[in-house]
Amino acid sequence: MSENGERMMPGKGLLDGLAVTLKTLTRRAGTQQYPDVQPDLPPRSRGVIALSEENCTVCMLCARECPDWCIYIDSHKEEVVVPGAARARQRNVLDRFDIDFSLCMYCGICIEVCPFDALHWTPEFEYAETDVLDLLHDKNRLGEWMRTVPPPPAHDVLGEPSKEEATAARKAAGPGAATAAKTARPAAVRTTPGTPAAPAPPPTPVTPPEPRPSAEEPGPEAGR
Ligand code: SF4
Ligand code: SF4
Repeated sequence: MSENGERMMPGKGLLDGLAVTLKTLTRRAGTQQYPDVQPDLPPRSRGVIALSEENCTVCMLCARECPDWCIYIDSHKEEVVVPGAARARQRNVLDRFDIDFSLCMYCGICIEVCPFDALHWTPEFEYAETDVLDLLHDKNRLGEWMRTVPPPPAHDVLGEPSKEEATAARKAAGPGAATAAKTARPAAVRTTPGTPAAPAPPPTPVTPPEPRPSAEEPGPEAGR
């Protein structure tokens, strides 16, 4: 019997099943033959976190913002004697920077909040361990992942040049161009290539504020 109560032809279910099998047999399989064939992952995949130790200033922002509390940082202060300076300077030296990937939920908050680009995503994902304790990566292991960090995406050709590029261009153009660039009025509207730029709006006249009578001055009704 079918779902709506009609009698089915004997053997129809078997034929339907065989038809599905034949259709699937002729279709190209979507299975990836990992580990014989490596998957083609997008360059910004969240595989593992890499640490650029020289960029880390031990500000502790990442450890404080991590929702899983799986970043462990230890440091000490060191005095740096600068020739000519009145007193020695102090700097933080990183002793320990561990991430426990058995707790990490790959949210990326630590990477987002780091103000010094010390943490980066890499698409590497082959670091499974048989012992969960081995998923605690120390700063040396996190530093080794840096070689797998993909290069940053190219700049948008229509975007504004970076501060460094603008400074280098001004320097290359000479000191006169640098002064002109500082005194020049900013362009009013950003346009697409081929479209004439709109003129800058005229300056708005500033009306001086009316003088307010001070509390000590007698008003017009004073002395009546
Ligand atoms: S990705 Fe998220 S959970 Fe993992 S270490 Fe960074 S902040 Fe913590
Ligand atoms: S936020 Fe960046 S600079 Fe600060 S401790 Fe973390 S990795 Fe180091």
